[in-house]
Amino acid sequence: MGTCQYCVKEANTVSDAIGYCADCIRTHFEEIRPEIKQVHRHSRKAYGLPEEPPASSEGMPCGLCIQKCRIPKGGTGYCGLRKVENGRIKGGRPHEGNLSFYYDPLPTNCVGDFVCPGGTGCGYPRYAHSKGPEYGHKNLAVFYHACSFNCLYCQNYHYKEKTFSSLKITSKELADAVDDATSCICYFGGDPTPQILHALKASKLALKKADKTILRICWETNGAIREPFLTKMADLSMKSGGCIKIDLKAWDEGIHYALCGVTNQKTLENFETLSGWISERPDPPFLLASTLLVPGYVDEREVEAIAGFIAGLDPEIPYSLLAFYPHFYLHDLPTTSRRHAICCKEVAERKGLRRVHIGNVHLLCEDY
Ligand code: SF4
Ligand code: SF4
Repeated sequence: MGTCQYCVKEANTVSDAIGYCADCIRTHFEEIRPEIKQVHRHSRKAYGLPEEPPASSEGMPCGLCIQKCRIPKGGTGYCGLRKVENGRIKGGRPHEGNLSFYYDPLPTNCVGDFVCPGGTGCGYPRYAHSKGPEYGHKNLAVFYHACSFNCLYCQNYHYKEKTFSSLKITSKELADAVDDATSCICYFGGDPTPQILHALKASKLALKKADKTILRICWETNGAIREPFLTKMADLSMKSGGCIKIDLKAWDEGIHYALCGVTNQKTLENFETLSGWISERPDPPFLLASTLLVPGYVDEREVEAIAGFIAGLDPEIPYSLLAFYPHFYLHDLPTTSRRHAICCKEVAERKGLRRVHIGNVHLLCEDY
């Protein structure tokens, strides 16, 4: 049971770590922002990560993502992965991937599974091996050990312990992991952004090797990458029959900042840009959205606004609502309830979306 430090409301949907309820964050964000910023700084310090994006005037600029770090000599970027050594930015280049990978038999619990070639056979025969789920085939799941956001509810936060690992996998070694039964690669993490140079190279090598068969390139990302990398990712997915799955974590700027420590502006802008590619290949779906239903924070109001935004771009964009499991700094919140998930699905459909799905249903609880 947490207490909002502003309105003193007590509820099991108020996180002790954040310290404020959703309504007060929405209404008084600028006033409470400094305290929320401290929560994020503290959570990053615990892992040896920079508390804020470095902005040294003499620092070397990294242009990969929204954080626009200027990394001082001997320091690291906000992601902890990119660092300046001997006058150069290192980390995440094609020969030094900091990642782990595994095979996932298809169909799998991938965010896009309910609409993609691997899960449904859509796009057959050009992009799928069968008219239904691709039994007998597998996904190469690539987990990058760094991220450009700081989500307090990160469902995979253990990667933070590996961000500074010296174990490296080259893009060639990763591409070599694609075998005859692999029909898609999914880059996620953490986030693929800080290691996009590695992922792009690995994808090109893997596609070259698989030029006579199907190999879809997919991304699961916070969507805050900068150009020209957004276009390069999109191009690979478009040509290979893959997709880009963007996590639209919250609509309200304050809620997004409280949860992730960063604005959602770049993510929304990139999502809109990518929606302009859809007509080039409507099937299988090229662009997907997902939202984790964090009790007390990502409520119907957030989902309604996100769904309205997506529907305004294209009502056929698939939208996956994912059940939350208490994790990391938000370990004191309950699991998403069935009622919360169903209400959000209905509200998203009322906004005009035609393909709304509830994921991780096994996690849903009866009520708070
Ligand atoms: S990838 Fe993003 S967070 Fe990492 S150093 Fe570059 S700009 Fe900073
Ligand atoms: S990686 Fe892409 S094609 Fe494979 S299961 Fe996930 S969304 Fe479908």
